[in-house]
Amino acid sequence: MELKTIKKIGVLTSGGDSPGMNAAIRAAVRAGFYYDIEMYGIYRGYEGMINNDIKKLDSGHIAHVLERGGTFLKSARSADFRTVEGRQKAYENLKSHGIDALVVIGGDGSLTGAHLFYKEHGIPAIGLPGTIDNDLSGTDLTIGFDTACNTAIEAIDKIRDTATSHDRLFFVEVMGRDAGFIAINAGIGSAAAAILIPEKKMQIEELVDKLKARRKRKKTSNIVIVAEGGKSGGAAEIAKKVHKFLPFYDTKVTILGHLQRGGAPSSYDRLLASKLGVMAVEGLLAGKYDVMAGIINNKVVYTPIKRAIVDDKTVDEDDFRIAKILST
Ligand code: ATP
Repeated sequence: MELKTIKKIGVLTSGGDSPGMNAAIRAAVRAGFYYDIEMYGIYRGYEGMINNDIKKLDSGHIAHVLERGGTFLKSARSADFRTVEGRQKAYENLKSHGIDALVVIGGDGSLTGAHLFYKEHGIPAIGLPGTIDNDLSGTDLTIGFDTACNTAIEAIDKIRDTATSHDRLFFVEVMGRDAGFIAINAGIGSAAAAILIPEKKMQIEELVDKLKARRKRKKTSNIVIVAEGGKSGGAAEIAKKVHKFLPFYDTKVTILGHLQRGGAPSSYDRLLASKLGVMAVEGLLAGKYDVMAGIINNKVVYTPIKRAIVDDKTVDEDDFRIAKILST
């Protein structure tokens, strides 16, 4: 692959926001300045690329953002970028600024867009895994996942207080449309009675038996964690079905929802985002194009985007088994 001269790099955040995106932007921009690169902020993801919402960044833009949740570059989903015409317009805008490479921070959709754009227009791009879902291969954890788990656990701890005081049965829905990573982590970390994830189907009868057995053992609070994309339905649906078998329980449903996306990034997410932001810029300068930077076994690795977005990362069987042992 031909090594291109890179003088101007554009950074964008795209898709669902996640805590640590700001830290990743800051790290990429600081690294760019270190290597005498002009850094540009592309606002609102691919939408800003198409609408020419692009600004040259200086150190003032990235002051005091590391510790803030969300993304100061804003994020968006762009239907136009899925079209050839939209991507052509985006390319022309980048050229008008002289931007010759991209750091794209987002989930599998955003990285797919970066891959396609590179194939079509030859703009080198490095993706960073910015999603609370942890559903990207090529990295042990994604930026924002650790914070989202901490937020979920903190909320479940609070729910447990009321669950225990009233002997209530709670169904708590956490995020995770296709992957149960938040559910399994938050479930183990908060001593859940059961964890329902998209990867495994749990029969209602099995769940009911489990809850009955816990009642016999005089467990005073029962919290069932349900990933939003669960095969047996969402928390409300499952609560309704279970209640028919266990009518004596005061059954409640809490959907944690978007609060899991917000908040200051955890120490792990700050570190992960900072390392990957620097490695994204260094990777581009070293000719690593069309790849995602991630951390595996504590080492930064570059994985071809095509490989990173393959939907093959699932909850570890051991984690599932451990959760089962701990909840009996
Ligand atoms: P999250 O995991 O939080 O949902 P994501 O990056 O997967 O984040 P998507 O909505 O799937 O979120 O993708 C973000 C944007 O990336 C889309 O709005 C679109 O602009 C672009 N994108 C996604 N898939 C493609 C594709 N196949 N071709 C071109 N662009 C795409």
